[in-house]
Amino acid sequence: MRNVNEPSFRESVDLMFSRAVALMDLPPGLEEKIRVCNATYTVRFGVRLRGEIKTFTGYRSVHSEHMEPVKGGIRFSMGVNQDEVEALAALMTYKCALVEAPFGGSKGGLCIDPRQYDEHEMELITRRFAYELIKRDLIHPSQNVPAPDMGTGEREMAWIADQYARMNTTDINSRACVTGKPLNAGGIAGRVEATGRGVQYALQEFFRDPTDMKQAGLTGSLDGKRVIVQGLGNVGYHAAKFLSEEDGAKVIGIIEYDGGLYDANGLDVEAVRQWIGQHGGVTGYPDATYSKDGSPLLEAECDILVPAALEGVINLSNAARIQAPLIIEAANGPVTAGADEILRDKGTVIIPDMYANAGGVTVSYFEWVKNLSHIRFGRMQRRQEEARHQLVINELQQLENVMEGQWKMSPDFRQKYLRGAGELELVRSGLDDTMRIAYQSMREVWHSRDDVTDLRTAAYLVSIGKVAASYRAKGL
Ligand code: NAD
Repeated sequence: MRNVNEPSFRESVDLMFSRAVALMDLPPGLEEKIRVCNATYTVRFGVRLRGEIKTFTGYRSVHSEHMEPVKGGIRFSMGVNQDEVEALAALMTYKCALVEAPFGGSKGGLCIDPRQYDEHEMELITRRFAYELIKRDLIHPSQNVPAPDMGTGEREMAWIADQYARMNTTDINSRACVTGKPLNAGGIAGRVEATGRGVQYALQEFFRDPTDMKQAGLTGSLDGKRVIVQGLGNVGYHAAKFLSEEDGAKVIGIIEYDGGLYDANGLDVEAVRQWIGQHGGVTGYPDATYSKDGSPLLEAECDILVPAALEGVINLSNAARIQAPLIIEAANGPVTAGADEILRDKGTVIIPDMYANAGGVTVSYFEWVKNLSHIRFGRMQRRQEEARHQLVINELQQLENVMEGQWKMSPDFRQKYLRGAGELELVRSGLDDTMRIAYQSMREVWHSRDDVTDLRTAAYLVSIGKVAASYRAKGL
């Protein structure tokens, strides 16, 4: 349970911002200009469903327009409110700055429980919400570009893109009005997995550095590390899947809204995901220890804790009992400002949300560029690259012949080397590069300044510095 004395989500983000900005030397007034949310639009609209008119409340908040378009997901959840979208919009500003995605920060949300409506009803509601935002340029390829978040995915993004195209029939760039679309509606390969993939790349980069591992009291590699994940949705599922299947990590705990699963020998992530798909939750999953209240699992012994569901789950009421030495914030705002302080004092290393889950917006950026350039990545150069590689293979083949069995190419070298990069490979490469560079920019501040003792403050310093530079360039 969250402590009533704890600040709201937005206040929590503000507190973290203020903590960092106190270490900077910004001109008077600029700090306030960056911190405040520029505007929040509230919309209430009615949709006729099941013979009666139902009224819904939605929001689109624009935190900072130092770069346009502004960018940020649309969340469908009963917990959506103005405070929450403003906090999430602020995080988007800092996130985009940190990973150098050329956007300002925004976020939207609709107060709704998507489980209560069938697909046709969801389409009516989503299109109506989109209509309200589009007619005010709050969805627009050069002004404001949403993406998926909790409770939304490719399906909703496709409806939004189509709604925009219907209302802007001559806009050649209409597909760039929203990202996270399905491939056949202008999406990009690798967007669905992107945020979870980014969490994996972030951890890989962290584990490349023995000094950083030591800060968390960890050694070795990701192989065999015990992981607990909260939320097996888009982000949590992909992160858990890649970490276990590709890096050898052991997912020992999965926490969902209806309970927790535990197996010290490691859970089968794919099997749990399928169970959730068929049964609506983890309840009844046979191959693990189930507990109805999953939240105590956050406090269980493990090496890496991955909160990937919602904000405020690690707070004043449980922070002191968290045993994980390393937390990676796959969700936005899972650790409150108060809990952050407790964990910092304990020496827990936190890889902060604005970096950890930036994979989504990074690949959204690639999708937006793809939509504006009207061409799939790799289309021009893939075969040419393959042809050049063929030349090398031909030469090596001749060498192989001359060496008469004394030297041979490795068995799968030919096939691997010949293959030119398609869109998915290019997207993953761009994402990996982005995550590595952003990590190093935080790390440099973390290790080079005595007054910076955690990655979150380092991340804020880097991103606020970049936002401030943009404002200065505009003459502010
Ligand atoms: P999602 O809706 O796909 O998944 C959320 C999961 O959390 C669901 O499986 C849900 O059942 C579970 N959940 C809900 N309440 C819970 C509770 N009380 N305890 C445990 N589990 C609970 O959402 P998502 O897109 O994976 O987003 C998750 C988080 O990641 C959010 O904070 C979101 O802002 C953040 N995020 C998402 C993206 C993205 O690309 N989707 C990008 C950046 C950040």
